[in-house]
Amino acid sequence: MKEKRVLVTGGAGFVGSHLCEQLIKLGNHVVCVDDLSTGSRANIHHLIGLPNFEMIVHDITNPLYIDINEIYNLACPASPKHYQTDPIKTIKTNVIGSINMLGLAKRTGARILQASTSEIYGDPQIHPQRESYWGNVNPVGIRSCYDEGKRCAETLFFDYQRQHQIDIKVARIFNTYGPHMCHEDGRVIPNFITQALKNEPITIYGDGLQTRSFCYVDDLISALIKFMGLSAGIAAPMNLGNPIELTVLELAHTIIRLTNSSSTIKFCSLPVDDPTQRRPDISLAQAHLNWQPKVQLELGLKRTIEYFSSNSDKQTRVTG
Ligand code: NAD
Ligand code: UDP
Repeated sequence: MKEKRVLVTGGAGFVGSHLCEQLIKLGNHVVCVDDLSTGSRANIHHLIGLPNFEMIVHDITNPLYIDINEIYNLACPASPKHYQTDPIKTIKTNVIGSINMLGLAKRTGARILQASTSEIYGDPQIHPQRESYWGNVNPVGIRSCYDEGKRCAETLFFDYQRQHQIDIKVARIFNTYGPHMCHEDGRVIPNFITQALKNEPITIYGDGLQTRSFCYVDDLISALIKFMGLSAGIAAPMNLGNPIELTVLELAHTIIRLTNSSSTIKFCSLPVDDPTQRRPDISLAQAHLNWQPKVQLELGLKRTIEYFSSNSDKQTRVTG
């Protein structure tokens, strides 16, 4: 069979780089498109030079004309610190970027998967979160550029499906972690590991009783690829994540223990609109993908700690 040409936007980012690597292993020709705003060449360094890997430095808010069979649309800053730095650009990436990628799918006939997010549920009043829940989102707050941007992107995907019969998949990704996360992106796991490795105080926002459910990146990648491979007609949206929930304080203590750190806990103010609880109901993914996360939190954290220990000095963010 002819090699598939697969586009990964945001392919030099944390999730995107793992996805590119796995798609190459599976025998695809991968085109990575990234503007390197929050991703880095270091994440894809090991892929550059391979005959079935191409890197295009490109901002998806501008149209892209290439030949492609499948599109994973991951381009978007994902950490609150990064997406709030230039909120208007975050919305443009989600809205104009999605229109451009949907336009590319329309022209080429490619199947397209959107990396949506648990943030579309906002500060959820239903727990755990099911795909049928419409969410509780502040439309005018500091997280809105991301939350509403991603919600609008989902709307666009379903409108392109209804209006132009585009073959879409919408994955709602819950907190994912692992190697290649940017150590300075402000997300909880990079922050806690970096602080613990330096024996500096661990910054807990609020009382630390807010919850999250963390999925190791390898588990997410296998779900994304299975979802893309599912027959046309199952567009979902589909939650992808690990349903094991813990408090941020529990996470801090686990990381202190695993790093054998002498860090203390420092309580800081809670950011506005920080969701109080989050856990995916993954029954839809279990039923359709025959998938569930396999990597236990402690194992995933150990691998991530190892990455941060050996890369903390080398991590560079290359822009332009
Ligand atoms: P990341 O910031 O590491 O990766 C995003 C990548 O997109 C970066 O390489 C960045 O340079 C690139 N990018 C940003 N704007 C772009 C633009 N306009 N044009 C081209 N490239 C652009 O984040 P991540 O954690 O790897 O997240 C990847 C995707 O998954 C995002 O869409 C994010 O919203 C979604 N997601 C991630 C998580 C998570 O926990 N990691 C959770 C929910 C959803
Ligand atoms: N958090 C924290 N200390 C930090 C970074 C984050 O207590 O140094 C908290 C944050 O307030 C949130 C949770 O950890 O409740 C997850 O934050 P993150 O930014 O990783 O992702 P979110 O799920 O909020 O998008």
